[in-house]
Amino acid sequence: MQIFNNVAEIKKYLSNEKAKNATIGLVPTMGYLHEGHCSLVEKSIDDNDITVVSIFVNPTQFGAGEDYDKYPRDTKKDLELLKTYGTQVIFCPSVEEMYPEDFNTTVEVSDITQGLCGASRPGHFKGVTTIVTKLLNIVNPTKAYFGQKDAQQALVIRQMVKDLNMDAQIVISPIIREMDGLAMSSRNIFLDKDQRHQATVLFKSLQYAKGLYDSGEKSTEKIKSSVEKIIKSSPLVNIDYISIVDISSLKPVEEINSKCLLALAVKFGPTRLIDNIILE
Ligand code: AMP
Repeated sequence: MQIFNNVAEIKKYLSNEKAKNATIGLVPTMGYLHEGHCSLVEKSIDDNDITVVSIFVNPTQFGAGEDYDKYPRDTKKDLELLKTYGTQVIFCPSVEEMYPEDFNTTVEVSDITQGLCGASRPGHFKGVTTIVTKLLNIVNPTKAYFGQKDAQQALVIRQMVKDLNMDAQIVISPIIREMDGLAMSSRNIFLDKDQRHQATVLFKSLQYAKGLYDSGEKSTEKIKSSVEKIIKSSPLVNIDYISIVDISSLKPVEEINSKCLLALAVKFGPTRLIDNIILE
């Protein structure tokens, strides 16, 4: 396993590999890896000659007062885990390496970043698209892997890659869940025992909504209010949003007549969790 901290060095290594016609898969992460991340790594290893996993807690995608400083980090453990999967290359740069003092450029996707998490986290997606552009330019992968867990993020990146004529194919993989349905997330570690127990309402509410939709309910108001009722049965929650949006425009719809995304963000104490399900 090759570990790089330096942009010039990883570029040189990968350009040598590309000269030998190696296909390259990129899995961008912020570390503190769990089985959700590993599912992307496994897929990339299956699909490509070389898999590059980046580990970088990107400061520009955290707003003021968010959890950048507290975000969990354990690079040593991450490296051990990635080794067991046979990952060939790790890129874990410092903040200074990615954002030198004279750094002066951002990349921003317009409409589809306005709603959902974009509305509650101003500037978040600008940070995401800027860092992902940098990673795609550094690694120049054949394919890059993202999780459906961060559905809006994956769709924003797919849009950016299309709009800017980037080469990488964006692969979106399903949400990996704990046994009780909670979507795996590095932030789950922040939940105390009660919050962790109650956080199962998220998936329960999504499953209930899917059941309603499958039995013919098309009204988003009705589906959303059922979801809200289930989530509010847990006393520790603070709902940020529950939205049903068209899967392409990410604009809210009143009636579900095309493929839609039911997405939610809910806070348990200071910990904000997101989850989603596709209604089609
Ligand atoms: P993060 O480290 O949280 O920025 O996540 C890195 C990548 O892993 C993103 O593409 C996420 O969508 C994906 N990911 C995170 N959690 C999960 C999960 N439970 N299932 C599938 N993919 C996930």
